[in-house]
Amino acid sequence: MELTAQEAWAKILESARVRLPGHSFHTWLAPTRAIALSEDTLLISAPSHFAAEWIEDKYGELLVPLVRRLLGDSFKLAIETRADGDSTQPLDAMPGAGLAEIAERERPEPSPLPTVARTVGGELNPQLTLERFVVGRSNEFAFALCQAVADAPGRHYNPLFIHGGVGLGKTHLLHAIGNHVARTCPALTVAYLTSEQFTNALIAAIRNRRTAQFQARYRSVDVLLVDDAHFLAGKHSTQEEFFHTFNALHDARKQVVLVSDRAPQQIPGLEERLISRFAWGVVTEIARPDLETRMAILQRKAEEQQLEIDEQVLLFIAERCRSSVRELEGALIKLLAFSSLSKQSITPELARSLVGSTLAPHRDLSADEIDQSVAESFGLTVDQLRSKSRQRQLAHARAVAMYLERSLLDLPYTQIGQRFGGRDHSTVIHSIQKVERQLEDDPGFRTQIDALRTRLR
Ligand code: ADP
Ligand code: MG
Repeated sequence: MELTAQEAWAKILESARVRLPGHSFHTWLAPTRAIALSEDTLLISAPSHFAAEWIEDKYGELLVPLVRRLLGDSFKLAIETRADGDSTQPLDAMPGAGLAEIAERERPEPSPLPTVARTVGGELNPQLTLERFVVGRSNEFAFALCQAVADAPGRHYNPLFIHGGVGLGKTHLLHAIGNHVARTCPALTVAYLTSEQFTNALIAAIRNRRTAQFQARYRSVDVLLVDDAHFLAGKHSTQEEFFHTFNALHDARKQVVLVSDRAPQQIPGLEERLISRFAWGVVTEIARPDLETRMAILQRKAEEQQLEIDEQVLLFIAERCRSSVRELEGALIKLLAFSSLSKQSITPELARSLVGSTLAPHRDLSADEIDQSVAESFGLTVDQLRSKSRQRQLAHARAVAMYLERSLLDLPYTQIGQRFGGRDHSTVIHSIQKVERQLEDDPGFRTQIDALRTRLR
């Protein structure tokens, strides 16, 4: 039976689909096309060189055996990059090249960033690129979506909405999309701004009777990047204007990307119609980086600064700075500053004394001690804290204890739930999120928690 390239690839995709999580298949394999089938190679194309590399890297082990099972033992799978949406290259343009070679050949020459990108709104920081973003489990899906959007704005995931805590790389990703588009498609206009800047610009436009110009300006961009979308909270006329801007852009298949510290439905006072618009595309979360990613980020930052830092020192920092990438960077900078001022080299001891002084080791701290301190600070007993009572003051103190166990000890949610009367993990997550929100909104509460934290150290 003679198969065409398309038929062969369709069969292989069918088998791959059931072996992969839906979103992986949808993001990476669904956009591929079969190009040609020769005696010993099946050639497919991916929409970007990044996608080609990613597929090779992550799915090569799955795909190659499927290819061989279908087509023959020594068959190769080759993957090329589509230069534009659908154009393809014949197989004989790349005789015998392996996957990586092809990906390499197709990689566009890095061109310097234009000094003036066509941007509207805030400036893009040229340092914040996709290449400099370290990818790990906590952010790989968000990153992949950003890469896809940057490669083909308006085509696939529109709008893209990313949410997650402070210092986890959301702003970085927005700038990175903007920089990538400005470099690869200089004819497109990119607008980067925070939702607060959008509000201010709107107010100024209303005051100066220039709303028509305002509308024309934002409704005509090709890529709209909105940072800190949670600032739309409760601002009705801004939301109204944003709604129309969004519709105009979306109708014209222009890309909209938003980032926020929380999911759309958790932004207080965000209108239902905006929440539902955001759900038209993809909403995804960036989580806190795990230890492995924190190490990788530190190594990359050290490399970028051309610093040789002892692995033990990096590990020490990575183990202690758990909450965000910004915290990691802060610790590294602190060490560097101290070592260059004092002319001491960075040893694990120095790291311990410097980083340890702000972020005391949590190793010896136990969850029981946390409960004890929280109970004391709220004038309760530990038993009350762990009881099933839902009385408000108790529930609040319990949420604080959960929050501290999570942020200081990184305990799994299920384990925290067990410690507090067998509550399930979604209840725990909900309680912790409530504390996090209150920490942002209520300075008095923040002081109280900081004091508790210091005492625990
Ligand atoms: P957010 O907007 O989510 O609060 P930022 O994008 O401002 O966070 O990130 C904080 C800092 O950490 C920035 O300097 C950013 O470049 C850096 N950063 C965050 N995530 C990563 C990552 N995955 N790889 C490299 N740097 C990162
Ligand atoms: Mg930010």
